[in-house]
Amino acid sequence: MPISMPSPERCPFCDYLAGLRPYTILEQGDQVAILVTREQRGLGHVLVIPVAHRPTILDVAPEEERHLMNAVRRAARAITAAHDPEGIAVWQNNGVPAHQTVPHVHFHVAGTLPDGGTRWGEVPRLDLDETDGIAKRLSPHV
Ligand SMILES: [Zn+2]
Repeated sequence: MPISMPSPERCPFCDYLAGLRPYTILEQGDQVAILVTREQRGLGHVLVIPVAHRPTILDVAPEEERHLMNAVRRAARAITAAHDPEGIAVWQNNGVPAHQTVPHVHFHVAGTLPDGGTRWGEVPRLDLDETDGIAKRLSPHV
């Protein structure tokens, strides 16, 4: 059975990387990029993505694997340096049944909240000034 994918008209992540829509990009390299999500579910919550459009983890190219994992680790270290959380959460969802909402593979990396865990359900949507502020705090450590 194929993975059931969300189907927005356009991929927002590809639009962000192409500069077609404004978004806070912490880092953009040849292979991977790190975005600061507007839906912060933990401290310094970022999304690590391949630059090439890959719908799920199953579609990641072999040459992208080490770049993705390296960026996940660097993001975790930057969050630790900037926020000193008691824990770091890394999660990744594939397909609608797994709650994937953007059809471009992404790894969530976030520091745990002061009261533990990460935030689920509805969260306030931050504006770009707020996510730029988060990027500013993380960028010296990436
Ligand atoms: Zn995409």
